[in-house]
Amino acid sequence: MAVFSARGVWPGEAEGRIFWVDAEAKPERASCADRPAEIGRLREAVSRALADLDGWMERQPTLGGRVLLQHCREALQDQAFMQRVTMLIDQHGLAAPSALVEAAGLVGSIMARSEELQERARALEETARWLARRLAGDRYPPDAILAGQAFSALELLDRTQPAVMAAGEPAVVGDAPLLWGVDAVSPEWHGRPARISGGALIIGEEAEADTVRYEAERRAVLSVARRMHADGLVRLTAGNVSCRIPGTSLFAITPSGMPYDALEPADICILDLDGRVVDARRRPSTEMPLHRLTYLRRPDVGAVVHTHSIYASAFACTGQELPVISTELAGLVGGTIRCAPYAPSGTETFAEVALAALGNEDLAVLFQNHGAMAVGENLERAYAVAVGLEEAAQIYLLARQVGEPIILPPEERRRIFLARRRAYGQSREA
Ligand code: 13P
Ligand code: ZN
Repeated sequence: MAVFSARGVWPGEAEGRIFWVDAEAKPERASCADRPAEIGRLREAVSRALADLDGWMERQPTLGGRVLLQHCREALQDQAFMQRVTMLIDQHGLAAPSALVEAAGLVGSIMARSEELQERARALEETARWLARRLAGDRYPPDAILAGQAFSALELLDRTQPAVMAAGEPAVVGDAPLLWGVDAVSPEWHGRPARISGGALIIGEEAEADTVRYEAERRAVLSVARRMHADGLVRLTAGNVSCRIPGTSLFAITPSGMPYDALEPADICILDLDGRVVDARRRPSTEMPLHRLTYLRRPDVGAVVHTHSIYASAFACTGQELPVISTELAGLVGGTIRCAPYAPSGTETFAEVALAALGNEDLAVLFQNHGAMAVGENLERAYAVAVGLEEAAQIYLLARQVGEPIILPPEERRRIFLARRRAYGQSREA
């Protein structure tokens, strides 16, 4: 049992289980069968949301709270945003929750380019996520004590269950109880019995034993992530690595934005192919959609390595593809390495664009203005492709400076690729 005290006090008692709420979580990308009906459902939800916002606004004693809600109100009335949402439903058949979040990502990223609009962009994305969760009918268990790093204003106002958050003070005032400023709040608390009593939060023992599930895959992902960093294919916290968990429809992926040398196997996140977290104490890589879509589209792929290696990224920044000029690269990847057109990283669109450029057979792809991705049947092979790709990019650049590089003809590339698979290195029995 552990007792934590809060800075902000909720004068009440509550008992239940901690339910970890990830404020950034996006709804699963889903499609809808009846597009006009889905647009109707969206319109209805928007008008209900606007009415709720008006009610909440009236009850906010502070000007700050009212301004914040006004931003959310404007987000729901933003023409460009709403047109985009409707278009995604009408033309692409997306379900309203997915359409809301996807449109907000796009419109928000354009808004955020201008400094004055950054606050509005944030409000737009938060409002869209909130409305998407409402529309998706996301429910928390009845005994849940919600816990999160921070709750958005709308999330706070639109709930009846007690909650605990780490950061700051609530920007708005609502009817439901909230305990804030509990620094120790952590995703590891998920599922644990808890009690709130005035300004104290009491967390009970973890139900499950302290074992790391899927330890072999977590260790393997971590080992390649560390190698990628040590070999200079990424700096700081860039890049990400994942692999499938054999015999399941799960994959293990590095957490977002954590220094590689500080990671432990338990920091590697386990997700299913719908993108749902199965076992994680950290937030998964922001490129989760890219990894997930790769596994969905490419049954032959067992591991994905995304790097920002310098020479490959230099080609990516010109949008040029990388021809196969060395036998080494031919042995590793077989074909030309295409460059996917630009898309904002971490989005579903980015994943779609990347997979379209990678195709059904290739093992590497460049991302315009960003970096590169290598895939393989297992982590070892995917990592070898990532290293080979960087070496080839460096060689090609030097070759262009000394003369006209000779590109290997496609049939020779293919022959080398197949021969290497057959006869290079030690056989498994050896
Ligand atoms: P993450 O730390 O979220 O994996 O992001 C790194 C990166 O390279 C994004 O493209
Ligand atoms: Zn990246």
